[in-house]
Amino acid sequence: MALLAMADMAMAQTKVIAHRGYWNDKGAAQNSIQSLQQANAIKAYGSEFDVYLTADGVAVVNHDAKIAGLDIEQSTYAQLKDLTLSNGEKLPTLAQYLQTAAQLKNTRLVLEIKPHQSEDRENLAVKTVLELVKKHKLQQKTDYISFSHNICKQLIALDAKARVAYLKGDLSPTQLKDEHFYGLDYHYSIFDKHPDWMKEAKTLGLTVNVWTVNDQAVMTRFIEQGADFITTDQPELLLSLLK
Ligand code: MG
Repeated sequence: MALLAMADMAMAQTKVIAHRGYWNDKGAAQNSIQSLQQANAIKAYGSEFDVYLTADGVAVVNHDAKIAGLDIEQSTYAQLKDLTLSNGEKLPTLAQYLQTAAQLKNTRLVLEIKPHQSEDRENLAVKTVLELVKKHKLQQKTDYISFSHNICKQLIALDAKARVAYLKGDLSPTQLKDEHFYGLDYHYSIFDKHPDWMKEAKTLGLTVNVWTVNDQAVMTRFIEQGADFITTDQPELLLSLLK
């Protein structure tokens, strides 16, 4: 009985997701390959990053729709490839990012596909991303997230095994379960607005990820509520709270 209770507690332990990698240290830029390596170095459970397609269909890793004033979706990869991040790295392609990820032992990927300018572009982004993840044999190590309901539905339709969580916060756990989502990944304020959703998600077997929690008191609150994952810009602080 005691052992079982301990096993349950171990399973319920909240896991740390580094938001845009672990960039908030040693000058690693957000979404840089270095930030992914640093998330792995501190043994973060997962490292989150953002993906856009260029005009000519190359998947690149960047948070904002624009880089150096250029709209990624309207630019060719040739126009973007020599742009540098704040740490001096070149704008990473998803292929380069996954190549690094395949070498890392500790950290899973939390891959966000950004909403694109049309459903057709979003569907192309989903297809491109799934092919690249498969090519690098990272299916078991990758979870998918998006604010776009369409992107999430496409991911689930094209890969029944894909673990997909929704970011926007406007669908209930029951609605997500009905649409074969793996989990929800909502801003922490959503759980204050819907105090029953944490429990509802757990009852349905959905995972709960909470973003972006940088405040120690809020971290503690969601650890106590049993969130499966907390996404944070302060992964070392969160790891220290979990020790
Ligand atoms: Mg993101």
